[in-house]
Amino acid sequence: LFTRAWTFSRGSPGLDHLPPDDRPEIAFAGRSNVGKSSLINALVGQRTLARASNTPGRTQELNFFTDPNADLYLVDMPGYGFAEAPKDKVAAWNKTLRSFLAGRRTLLRVFVLVDARHGLKPVDDEIMALLDGAAVSYQVLLTKADKISRTDLERVTANTTKSLAKHPAAYPRVLATSSETGMGFEDLRAVVAKLIDA
Ligand code: GDP
Repeated sequence: LFTRAWTFSRGSPGLDHLPPDDRPEIAFAGRSNVGKSSLINALVGQRTLARASNTPGRTQELNFFTDPNADLYLVDMPGYGFAEAPKDKVAAWNKTLRSFLAGRRTLLRVFVLVDARHGLKPVDDEIMALLDGAAVSYQVLLTKADKISRTDLERVTANTTKSLAKHPAAYPRVLATSSETGMGFEDLRAVVAKLIDA
């Protein structure tokens, strides 16, 4: 699946340009600069599929990528946590996001990306509360694991796992990844494969 040539399918600023829900999909969410584009690119082994580094205030869009067999959509959700973003825009976007999450029957799981150096932040808790509310299954992926020591990584993984206990829709297993070293990607691909098979 991840050795195929993935392509950008479409971007949807609201809910009116979504592609038809004709195949399973998994989504990726996380604070801006968390390493989301790098992770999507590393997952499919294509360096330029997802655009790296988002511009603050850029139009918020859901970006859909697909493989040539149309077996799966990868959904790149806009980075959150821009301090500069105007409040009304954030509120409008959260509303759109909530409708998308609640209404998308083919959405199998949202991967919530968290920087391994920082652990969960209040904005991550907000997005997780939103996912809990929509009863959408989600799983935390720690990113940039190569940037910290093994001891620190174990500590952050344990703390994150502990925090997830109070989130009903969270999948308990936290995966540590690095787009630089490839750490965690074998596990991540296996998780995705299992989701599609199920
Ligand atoms: P996005 O805004 O969430 O899409 O983040 P990007 O993928 O653009 O990454 C933000 C920055 O972090 C870039 O400078 C990346 O090179 C860097 N980065 C992303 N993933 C990793 C990683 O696994 N390890 C390291 N060391 N740097 C990373």
